[in-house]
Amino acid sequence: MPSSIHAIHAHEILDSRGNPTLGVSILLADGTTGSASVPSGASTGVHEALELRDNDPKRYGGKGVLKAVQNVQKIIAPKLIGMDVMCLREIDERMIALDGTQNKSRLGANAILGVSLACAHAGARYKKMPLYIYIRQIYDLPFKTFRMPYPTMNVMNGGAHAGWILDFQEFMIVPKQKKFHERLRCGSEIFHALGGLLKKKGFSTLVGDEGGYSVQLKKNEETIKLIVQAVKQAGYESGKDVFFALDPATSELYDEQTKKYTLHVDKKKLTSKEMIALWRGWMKKYPILSLEDGLAQDDWEGWRELTKQLGENIVLVGDDLFVTNTGRLRKGIEEKVGNAILIKLNQIGTLSETIDAILLAQQYGYKISVSHRSGETCDTTIADLAVAVNADFIKAGSLSRGERLAKYNRLIEIEEEIKG
Ligand code: PGA
Ligand code: ZN
Repeated sequence: MPSSIHAIHAHEILDSRGNPTLGVSILLADGTTGSASVPSGASTGVHEALELRDNDPKRYGGKGVLKAVQNVQKIIAPKLIGMDVMCLREIDERMIALDGTQNKSRLGANAILGVSLACAHAGARYKKMPLYIYIRQIYDLPFKTFRMPYPTMNVMNGGAHAGWILDFQEFMIVPKQKKFHERLRCGSEIFHALGGLLKKKGFSTLVGDEGGYSVQLKKNEETIKLIVQAVKQAGYESGKDVFFALDPATSELYDEQTKKYTLHVDKKKLTSKEMIALWRGWMKKYPILSLEDGLAQDDWEGWRELTKQLGENIVLVGDDLFVTNTGRLRKGIEEKVGNAILIKLNQIGTLSETIDAILLAQQYGYKISVSHRSGETCDTTIADLAVAVNADFIKAGSLSRGERLAKYNRLIEIEEEIKG
């Protein structure tokens, strides 16, 4: 069969932080190839599938991924060779069974995801289709038209992505123009206006892991005030042309023992209730459209209250909370927690399970935000995935750093294709 898998090759490559990750290539019987590379998080949720690292201190400070490479080549490949690359559900199920653990800890979610995505790319090429159309087709997705996602652009970086210069990890702008290329232009103009403003105020314009500025300020809230000024300077109107989104990544701030959130910059320790009051206060002052991980990954009680209080007016995105996992999402749906899910392929480890999480979320009216990781490569799979599933949002970082722009630039191509 010309579309059967003939060979699978994996290798250790480096991500945008210079840490090892996996690149995987697939060769089909007819000579078609496809490849993909795997991202890597820093503020990783405890419920995510396992990213297998070698823990050999002699290589890359223990971060090598040669075991995962071996797992692809010695354990996974022999079981997949000969399978039709277009039967991606079966391929993914076979890898899940081969791994046999709840969190893919035997073979590594990085190993499994690399193969899953490389198969998707090889299949799309075999069918001579763009990946976003191919994904729709092989998963028989129910959408008839295409919709471009709103970008959530992380223009100021804090937390684990910027040496803890701020407590909250991500301050994002969400341009609302009609066309994706106009949203990108708006984002870029605001990013550069912000850079100019920071320079004028005597701040550094160095950027964090996701390409946003990272500036030491006296209070977390000053960040958002600066962004408001930059929006104005760039000639846009906050709350009309552009909205804000936050990912404070509060699992990183939460102490399980005391049940409090530590804000070092603000010199405060807050309960869940006080955190909710903080978000409510910010929402009153600024046009905030979405809040991701506004409370910690296992603070279910807090999340229920957060959703009760703010869920009508704002997109409440579960990242560490749901970890792209249908089990955790189901619990969220039952307990009326959140109203949107962040989708990260490597949190769960296969494209098929990722699609399942998206479909479940959409079935219950949860919004979808397809996301990069803080450690990225120039792989653009998430851009195609976002369009394939008519995602509401894509989160791909700031308006600087090639691995971030690669996703936005891919969306520019897609936008041109789908209108023509
Ligand atoms: P991570 O951060 O990729 O470092 O986990 C991204 C996020 O929290 O959304
Ligand atoms: Zn997050």
